[in-house]
Amino acid sequence: MDAGDFPLGRPGTLDASKGKTVLRRNALWAVRLEWPAGDHEFGCPRSDEAAALRELDRVRSYWARGPMRPRLSLVRISHHDFELHAKARRGCKAPDCP
Ligand SMILES: [Zn+2]
Repeated sequence: MDAGDFPLGRPGTLDASKGKTVLRRNALWAVRLEWPAGDHEFGCPRSDEAAALRELDRVRSYWARGPMRPRLSLVRISHHDFELHAKARRGCKAPDCP
């Protein structure tokens, strides 16, 4: 069998699945709230995307009832960044955040 028959052979497949596992362990899905003043915060951390999407819906309907309308989105964020925002980065406006 010629190696050229498998341009996307097994080694690449294994690497890809390994990368995915690492990503899942180190990152979370979270709801990002961006306020009109330009600061943002993150809430409702979930490890799987389907659960995170349900949280996004829940958060959206919560804020839809009041006068405050943060811009909501779902983001990938590391545990470390999430913890930072929960503790030390209240009112964060850094443009390089997820
Ligand atoms: Zn931030």
